[in-house]
Amino acid sequence: MKIEEREVTILNWCPSCGGTNEVTISLASYLKWQRGGELIQFAMPDLSADEREMLMTGTCPPCWDKMFGEDDE
Ligand SMILES: [Zn+2]
Repeated sequence: MKIEEREVTILNWCPSCGGTNEVTISLASYLKWQRGGELIQFAMPDLSADEREMLMTGTCPPCWDKMFGEDDE
């Protein structure tokens, strides 16, 4: 198996609620983003916006909704 075909699981802390979340992506995408300086939406076009947010900031979807959602409360 080529190294680019491996997957990595990125574990993050949500800065808002302190919970952990994880996103599994291909190593190739991860390296493109981290080392190649590629914008995350181009390096990982298959990820949802929620997943990209978890990778970038750790913020989990419920907290993201709380911060930016329009239909909360
Ligand atoms: Zn959270």
